[in-house]
Amino acid sequence: MIETDILVVGAGPAGSIAAKHAALGGADVLLIDKKSEIGSPKRCAEGVSKEGLNFLGIEPQLIWAVNEIEGIRLIAPDGTDVWLNDEIKLPEAGYILERKVFDKHMAMDAGRAGAKIKIKTLANALKKEGDSYIVNCESMGEELDIKAKILIGADGPESHIGRWAGLKTGTKPKDMESGVQFEMCNVKMEDPTVLEFYFGSVAPGGYVWIFPKGEDVANVGLGIIQSKADKTAYEYLVDFVKTCPATKDGKIVELNVGGDPVGGMIKDLSDDNILIVGDAAGQVHPLTGGGIINGMTCGMFAGEIAAKSIKKGDYSKKHLSEYDKRCKDLLEDKMKKYLKVRDYLESLSDDELNSVAAAFQNVEFKEISTAELVKKLVKVSPKALLKLGKLF
Ligand SMILES: Cc1cc2nc3c(=O)[nH]c(=O)nc-3n(C[C@H](O)[C@H](O)[C@H](O)COP(=O)(O)OP(=O)(O)OC[C@H]3O[C@@H](n4cnc5c(N)ncnc54)[C@H](O)[C@@H]3O)c2cc1C
Repeated sequence: MIETDILVVGAGPAGSIAAKHAALGGADVLLIDKKSEIGSPKRCAEGVSKEGLNFLGIEPQLIWAVNEIEGIRLIAPDGTDVWLNDEIKLPEAGYILERKVFDKHMAMDAGRAGAKIKIKTLANALKKEGDSYIVNCESMGEELDIKAKILIGADGPESHIGRWAGLKTGTKPKDMESGVQFEMCNVKMEDPTVLEFYFGSVAPGGYVWIFPKGEDVANVGLGIIQSKADKTAYEYLVDFVKTCPATKDGKIVELNVGGDPVGGMIKDLSDDNILIVGDAAGQVHPLTGGGIINGMTCGMFAGEIAAKSIKKGDYSKKHLSEYDKRCKDLLEDKMKKYLKVRDYLESLSDDELNSVAAAFQNVEFKEISTAELVKKLVKVSPKALLKLGKLF
């Protein structure tokens, strides 16, 4: 049996940053992951905002921030496109990551801050014993029990840790986007610094993205809500890639599949001796499906609060609920609004999306953020005004 103050299960971005800040707070921390290589395989289109990294105090490094983004292009079902790049401020602009390198670097940061790391260590079960959790693991092929005063569940979208501890962490099928993606070369993008988003029946309940990683390399993928679709996500992607001029001659070098919980945060993020972070807690932007920055920000809060609890010797829900408060103050309102926007966008037919794109041709954008886009949408579409007018 190994004993530690804080055990973090899952060395994705949310878990690694939680481990880092818990260690910086003076706690004895162990970070485990079932993978033999942290970060691989990736399940991500790899887009992050500069603002987000900045807030987290993370300096971009060329080795993992592989392409800088300068704009976005929105494409309606009939091909009408809206370019948002020249002379427009893009507060959410950022980088395309190489997640396999980024995730490993974030784990290294945790290690450098003092956390211990165990790879190829799968959490199988847990039980409460007094004021601790005992987590039963399989580590490098051997059984291992780990006793921790505080457990941080950072085990991603399929999360078990929270559920095993009695928290309601499940995502309803209608809120779980099925994501599938090819990393491709020979992609003929119009501008390899611009993110492309395709809307409508190409991806019911979601959208198709082309996120450029280099001159001719891109993540080409989509997310759909399966109950709104009549094919699998993979079939939608194959059809898209075959017909889109940018990708039809592309060569696939990687396939990524994964779920993205876009239904909002779980109600209780903590309980006695436990905190849940990242995708496991539903800390994903309901509209974009982006979860790296939200998960890392909340992971940072979790690490700081867990370390404070260790110092105080109080691991009760009452003390740990400061974590719920900080996450909810940061995300809850925004998430509620964007869930409504998502429902609205999902209700639009291809024809209606074409009309919105046509109306956008005459709109001047000075700054582009998700909020600004919704504000402009409300201006050009009476239906949007009716449904979303009061939100932004
Ligand atoms: C197709 C797709 C595209 C996406 N694109 C973007 C994007 O462009 N930008 C963005 O911000 N977000 C994107 N996301 C979402 C983003 O990938 C996640 O929000 C992010 O990875 C969440 O980080 P995390 O640390 O919470 O979980 P994860 O990154 O999933 O990490 C969880 C870790 O826990 C480990 N683990 C799980 N169970 C156990 C266990 N029992 N024992 C030990 N270890 C365990 C896993 O091995 C994994 O390493 C995308 C998601 C998908 C599916």
